[in-house]
Amino acid sequence: MYEEKRYLCPLVGRDMWDGECYDVQMVHYGFIKPEILDFVLDQSKADKICEACPFNQLKQPASGMGKMITA
Ligand code: SF4
Repeated sequence: MYEEKRYLCPLVGRDMWDGECYDVQMVHYGFIKPEILDFVLDQSKADKICEACPFNQLKQPASGMGKMITA
């Protein structure tokens, strides 16, 4: 059974569920409209931070390098 993961997102500086992170990446890469997010995504900031983030599910599986918050 899938278990949601929650972590401290370095892009927005608050806790984020992996599902929301996935949505951020969908917006970041232009697959869905930005209105789905409850904040305005800074694309140039996401280019730098999300691209290097260990939690970026479109880049690599979470490696545990960042700060994981247990649910
Ligand atoms: S990839 Fe990392 S920095 Fe980008 S939204 Fe997800 S947790 Fe935040």
